[in-house]
Amino acid sequence: MNERKLGIATIAVHGRKHFDKHETGAPIRAISTPIYQSSTFAFENAAQGAAIFAGEVEGYFYTRLGNPTVTALENEMAFLEGADAALAFASGMAATSAIALALCKSGDRIVASDTLYGGTHNLFVETLPRLGIEVTEVDARDPENIERVLDERTRLIFIETPANPTLRLVDIGATARIARARGIPLAVDNTFATPYLQNPIALGADIVMHSATKYIGGHGDTVAGVVVGSKEFMSRMRADVLRDFGGIISPFNAWLLLRGLKTLPVRMERHCENAMEIAQFLSYHPKIDSVYYPGLRTHPQHDLAKSQMRGMGGMVSFEVKGGREAGRILMDSVQLCTLAVSLGDVDTLIEHPATMTHSTYSEEDLIAVGITPGFVRLSVGLEDVDDLVWDLRQALARLPD
Ligand SMILES: *Cc1c(COP(=O)(O)O)cnc(C)c1O
Repeated sequence: MNERKLGIATIAVHGRKHFDKHETGAPIRAISTPIYQSSTFAFENAAQGAAIFAGEVEGYFYTRLGNPTVTALENEMAFLEGADAALAFASGMAATSAIALALCKSGDRIVASDTLYGGTHNLFVETLPRLGIEVTEVDARDPENIERVLDERTRLIFIETPANPTLRLVDIGATARIARARGIPLAVDNTFATPYLQNPIALGADIVMHSATKYIGGHGDTVAGVVVGSKEFMSRMRADVLRDFGGIISPFNAWLLLRGLKTLPVRMERHCENAMEIAQFLSYHPKIDSVYYPGLRTHPQHDLAKSQMRGMGGMVSFEVKGGREAGRILMDSVQLCTLAVSLGDVDTLIEHPATMTHSTYSEEDLIAVGITPGFVRLSVGLEDVDDLVWDLRQALARLPD
């Protein structure tokens, strides 16, 4: 090709190939992981391509099956959770559904805690049953309720702790002992706690999932999911689910999460501090009925929280006196807090679970899991806490006495 003068279209397409060698030959020592925004990777020659496809040698060849930026994120998440391996997904829901699809087929069963992210609940009670996978949700605050319903068809136990939005906890260690005794894998949705505050693998869980959209990214700019667990299970999920269903994360989103992880510890420290202060403020406020925050001594599972979490997190839920209408006035009166779903962002977000994130629950199920009409969820951000208290105080003042 050297002797040929190439056409402009050919040059535009081919550009200058870099293949990770700097033009000067000097080593590249970027402190930030490069974004390998490449769908495909060139083989050295036909034999190497065939060997990669045959699984005889490792190598990147197509981003749905592996990408260096995504690998960097997966290694980091596995390390932070104390797991062997991790797999990143396009969203938290892609991660959760991948766990279910990797472990269950038609005729199998999942046992889950009853307070779950609304999307997870919908997957469990609407979508998986259509595939012949039955899901039983129980009040898992008492792990014996899980044990009681396990049978020989149960392939997965799935819990969320602290739960969205009620902040109810599940004893991970006790549930893991029940799961181990039956040889059933235990998966924990660790989104609320993050690997900085809680490590379910160390407590005996087999699989951990995150909606990385939340605290892992931390800035409200990315939707993503991550699963961690054994090397064997991750390889199986990659082969059986990620390859065929294809819900992969983009290299750019993986990079945003890698950037988010760098500040996860400092962000979580401040989220926890601010949330504790706001929970205390709310618990003394005359227009508030109940406050749910694991860090409060009045939380019925405060001791469990202290034993399985290193900090109490940034999520605070509460019930306003006056129910739904009072909640509406509050949410329409805040000036600093943003009325929005999602959580774990630098900004404080306020929302109404019964009509927003948990509208997938029926009226009876909402009441059964403790999501009353006046129930408000607050994702406490990183603003000056005095400003947040000021905002909530002025908004609460607008509620009828
Ligand atoms: C948001 C969320 C999910 C779903 O994650 P997406 O990234 O929105 O798909 C799952 N679990 C919990 C606890 C969540 O908050």
